[in-house]
Amino acid sequence: MLEILRKIVQEVNAAPDLDSVLDVIVRRVQRAIRTDVCSIYLFDPREERYVLMATQGLNKRSVGQASLSLSEGVVGLVGDRAEPINLENAAAHSSYTFIKGTGEEKFHAFLGVPIIHHRTLLGVLVVQQKAIRRFDENEEAFMVTMSAQLAGVIAHAEATGSIKKLSEHEKGESDRKFEGVSGCIGVAIGPAVVMTPLADLDGVPERKTEDIKEEITKFKKALASVRRDIKKVGRSLAKRLRSEERELFDVYIRMLDDNALAGEVIAQIKQGHWAQGALKNVIGEHVHQFSMMDDPYLRERATDIKDLGRRMLTCLQESGPALSEIDFPENAILVADELTPAMLGEVPADKLAGLLSVNGSGNSHAAILARSMGIPTVMGAVDLPYTRLEGLQVILDGYSGRVFINPSEDLAQCYRDIIREENEVNAGLEGLKELPAETTDGYRMPLWVNTGLVTDVARSLDRGAEGIGLYRTEIPFMIRDFFPSEYEQMITYRAQLEAFAPRPVTMRTLDIGGDKPLSYFPIDEDNPMLGWRGIRITRDHPEIFLVQIRAMLRAAEGLDNLRIMLPMVTNVQEVEDAKKLIARAVDELREEGHVVNQPLIGVMIEVPAAVYQARRFARRVDFISVGSNDLTQYLLAVDRNNPRVAGLYVSYHPAVLKALQYIAREAHKESVSVSICGEMAADPGGALLLMAMGYDVLSMNATNLPKIKFAIRGVSMGRAQDLLSRIIVMDDVDKIHMLLRKTLKDLGLGQLTRPTIPD
Ligand code: PEP
Ligand code: MG
Repeated sequence: MLEILRKIVQEVNAAPDLDSVLDVIVRRVQRAIRTDVCSIYLFDPREERYVLMATQGLNKRSVGQASLSLSEGVVGLVGDRAEPINLENAAAHSSYTFIKGTGEEKFHAFLGVPIIHHRTLLGVLVVQQKAIRRFDENEEAFMVTMSAQLAGVIAHAEATGSIKKLSEHEKGESDRKFEGVSGCIGVAIGPAVVMTPLADLDGVPERKTEDIKEEITKFKKALASVRRDIKKVGRSLAKRLRSEERELFDVYIRMLDDNALAGEVIAQIKQGHWAQGALKNVIGEHVHQFSMMDDPYLRERATDIKDLGRRMLTCLQESGPALSEIDFPENAILVADELTPAMLGEVPADKLAGLLSVNGSGNSHAAILARSMGIPTVMGAVDLPYTRLEGLQVILDGYSGRVFINPSEDLAQCYRDIIREENEVNAGLEGLKELPAETTDGYRMPLWVNTGLVTDVARSLDRGAEGIGLYRTEIPFMIRDFFPSEYEQMITYRAQLEAFAPRPVTMRTLDIGGDKPLSYFPIDEDNPMLGWRGIRITRDHPEIFLVQIRAMLRAAEGLDNLRIMLPMVTNVQEVEDAKKLIARAVDELREEGHVVNQPLIGVMIEVPAAVYQARRFARRVDFISVGSNDLTQYLLAVDRNNPRVAGLYVSYHPAVLKALQYIAREAHKESVSVSICGEMAADPGGALLLMAMGYDVLSMNATNLPKIKFAIRGVSMGRAQDLLSRIIVMDDVDKIHMLLRKTLKDLGLGQLTRPTIPD
C-alpha cells in the first residue's frame, strides 16, 4: 500500500493544474482500492456548496454541475463532522440526498473522508460501490492517509490555478487572498519581484522571454560549462572507479546531448520560456518519469537528472545579473521562498516597498531586520504559489499577515487610505525626538535600540535613541564570505560605538547557529534551535571569541561606552569562562600598549534554565538583558521560524509574562539592571507591561521607538501597574490582547494599535 501511496502522491505532485490533480486522484484511488466510484467534492466558499469536481465512475457530465449545500447529503455530513463516514448503504442514511444526473443511484456502499488543510476543510473524497457492504478498516485507513497527504497538493494546485487566471487577466478573478503572519507592520502595494533561490529548480519563477536568441545562447554556454565539469570530474575519478561506474559519466554527457535534454530545453525556449524556466520544465518532466518507474535502479536515475538540472541552473544563475544589478520596479514587493537577512542587504532600499516570504515566521531574523528597516513584511504565507507571482500587483498587509494578489480597485483604495493614515501618524511622532520618554506622573523610561546594519545607527539617533541595547554582531558576519579579521571587526564596531558615544553600546558576542547560519561555517543539525548556537559555539572556539572581544575592546579605546553581552547562556560556567577570556583579552591588549578599560559584562536570558538562575547570573554580571524572542520560543516549545506553529508563538502567553516578571524581580534582588531587547519591547502594549514590571531599559527597533515613546508619554506608571496586575492573573491570551487594545484606546493611543481593515 505504501508503494501505491508513494506513486499516487508523486503523480499528483507532477500534475500541471488542479483539474489534472483531481483527475489523477480519482483514477488512481479507484484503481488502488478496486472500487466502482471515486469522486472529489470541493468546497466552494463563495457559494457555500460542495461541488463535484472530478469522478471516476459517476456521470462525467455532472462534473462542475452537481453540488450540495452545506447541510445536504452524506457528503455534507462528512464535512460537518470533519471525520470519515463509512456506510454499507448510503441511501438508507437519514442525511442521504440523491443528486440527479450523477448516476449514483446504482451504488450503495459509501465511504467519505474529509480533505483538510491547516484546519480548513477543502472538500470530501468519496468512494462508492454497487455492493451493500462496509469498506474494511484497511480501505478506510488508506483513504484517510491519502486525503491527509493530498490536502496540501490540492490547496497548492487551487492557489496556483487562481494565480494563473489572475496573470492571464481572466475576468472576475481578483483579491485572491493568502494568509501568513505579520513580519513587520505596515502596508505595501506594488508589483511582485520573485527572488530565485540558488540551484533550486522548484523555486525558478515562470517568466516569458522577449529575446529567444539570447536565452538560447545563455543556455548553450551553461551546457558547455557543465559538460566540461563532468568530463573533468570523470577524468579525475577514473582511476578510482570501476568501469561500470565510469560509464555513468558518459551517460551524463549523453543526456546533455542536443537530441536529449538539451534539445528539449531549446525547444521550450523557442516557445517563449526563459532558459531557467525551460530547464525547470524539462528536468521536472524527466524526473517525474523516472520516479514513476518500478525498477528501483531506474528510479534512482531521477536523482542523476535532478543533479544535472541543478548544475545547469547554477551556471545559468551565475551568468545572470546579481540581485543588486536587477532593475527593480518602483514599490517592489520582494517575494521569496525563504527570505534571508542577506537578501535584504542587497536590494536598493528606495525601490523596496514590502517583503513576502513563504517560509519563516514573525520572529525569524529576516523579519527582525525588516522591522528595524521599517519595511512592511508578511512571513509564512505557506500556500502562496510564489513562483507564479512575478509582475503581479500585490497588496501586502503587514498588520494582519494577509496578502492580496491582483487587488480590485476598491480594496486597493481602502489600503491606500491606510497608508495615508500611517504616514500622518508617523509625521505626528517626528516631533517627539527631543522629548523624554516620561510617563504623565514623571517616571523616566530609557529607550534604547537594537542594531545590526550600518544604516541602523543614523536612523536610531535620528529617532532619539539613548543607547544601543543589542548590537547583533552576527549580521556583519552573515553578509560576507569568510570570518572578518580582528581589524575589520574593529572598524565595524567602532562605527557603532563612536556614533553613540557617550551613550552606552551593548555588543552581543557572536550569536550564530539556529536560524543564523554562516555560509562559510556550515552546521548540519537535525534540531538547530536546540543545538550548537550562541555561546555554545564561541565557548568551543575561543579563537573566534577572543578575536571578536579584542576587536570590541580596541574599537572602544578612548570612548569607554562598551558593554559586552553573552547570548544563549544556560549555566553559570559559561559565564565564568567567558569572563575569564574577556579579562585575558583586556590584559593582552594592555600589554600590547592599548588603553582599554574593563567593559561592563552582561548575559541574555533566553532559555528557561536561565530564567530560574537569573539571580545567580545577576551575582556574576553587571547587567541582564532578556531576549524575549528566544525565551518565548523555548518556554512555549514553538520554533520561532516555523510557519505551521506561528499561531502558537504568543508573546503575551501567561507563562511568558510570569517569566518576565520573575526575571525582573530576581535581578533587582541583586541590584542589577535588567533590560529587554526582544521584540516585545517594540509593541506599545508590551512596553507598558514591561515598564510596570520594573524593567530598567527597553531596547527595540528604531522604527517603533517613536511609537513606544508616544505610548509611555500617554500613560501614568500607576495606570500601567494597574494594567499589569489585571493581565498577570488572566489565563486567556485573546482576552489579554483585547484588554491591551482597549486600554490603549481608552488612553487615547488608539492610533498605535492595528488599523481596522476590511475582511
Ligand atoms: C531574542 O532572542 O529575544 C533576541 C533579542 O535575540 P535574537 O532575536 O537575535 O535571537
Ligand atoms: Mg536570541
